[in-house]
Amino acid sequence: ELVKNEDLDILEDLGAGNGGTVTKVWNRKRNCVMARKLILVDAKPSVRKQILRELQIMNDCASPYIVGYYGCFPVDVHVGVVMEYMDAGSLDHIYRKNGAVPITVVGKVAEAVLRGLMYLYDVHRIIHRGLTAADIKPSNILVNTAGEIKICDFGVSGELINSIANTFVGTSTYMSPERIQGAPYTIKSDVWSLGISLIELATARFPFMDPPDSSSEADEEADEDRTEHDPNATLPLSTQRPKLDKKPSRGEAKGERRRSRGVSLGGGGHTMSILDLLQHIVNEPAPRLTGRRRSFPKEAELFVEGCLDKDPGSRKSPQELLASDWITKSTVTVDELKKWATSIAPAKAT
Ligand code: ATP
Ligand code: MG
Repeated sequence: ELVKNEDLDILEDLGAGNGGTVTKVWNRKRNCVMARKLILVDAKPSVRKQILRELQIMNDCASPYIVGYYGCFPVDVHVGVVMEYMDAGSLDHIYRKNGAVPITVVGKVAEAVLRGLMYLYDVHRIIHRGLTAADIKPSNILVNTAGEIKICDFGVSGELINSIANTFVGTSTYMSPERIQGAPYTIKSDVWSLGISLIELATARFPFMDPPDSSSEADEEADEDRTEHDPNATLPLSTQRPKLDKKPSRGEAKGERRRSRGVSLGGGGHTMSILDLLQHIVNEPAPRLTGRRRSFPKEAELFVEGCLDKDPGSRKSPQELLASDWITKSTVTVDELKKWATSIAPAKAT
């Protein structure tokens, strides 16, 4: 039996994104904590029903790499989705609070995300239903103190994506070059987003921030800057498919308004708007996993290179990536993941 909203007592806020807000809740019926996401949906009743129906696919999703689903229901102007509470939180919060994630753990993140994606593709044919991208990024990869790493927020309901009241949904800075240019979504798009996310976790910096050859002083500055940049930033629907042959004027979208949150690129305090950033992703060489202060194992660098091939045709598939040395030679145990997750998890309230 699915969870009802009446069963839930609110405990605390877990965060908010472009599409909704997430709250830690206590389920009185089952005596356990859960996470409830409320998504503001601007749609007529028939469309709401359709969304709730589409979300039922989640019922059949059971994988150790997918955040558990417990039910959904209408809550006035929202759609509520109840899911498994992950007590060490999302990887964006984790690296912002604790700094770079150890590269051995990043390898386990890569493996978990790929296994989660393969599950969605193979078992549920998520993309073959013409649905949307899995939206892989650090805020959608969650960790618990049992040492588990799982993905959430993949696009199971096309109708939901269409109806999210906040129109700042759609284009994100984790998007592959081909998708920025309007190509349809494929499995390979998620592989690109994974590559970007892995660099961000391993270096504690969104990779499109500054040139890799900057001095160590610039490095320090960039580290301070990193909280300024909002890699979750998205564009309003009206500017979702910018014409990339024409240079978009500065100040379009959120670029100007968010000057301080811009991306510093090329040094000299030059700040990029989000449209400039998307153009940069399309036109410049893909980022790599290279350490200035840290050095990474060759296998990790090669893995990320396989994710970040700008040509989706030659970009590696999830299967190929799972067979790569970085994944198959990992010696990290569940116990070690537990220890790491426990060391970074927020202290228990009670
Ligand atoms: P976006 O809306 O662009 O996807 P987001 O992923 O940060 O951004 P939400 O999906 O609304 O936004 O999630 C908000 C925050 O809530 C996340 O950053 C994460 O830290 C937290 N969160 C989400 N789901 C859970 C969960 N099941 N358990 C614990 N924390 C969660
Ligand atoms: Mg999310």
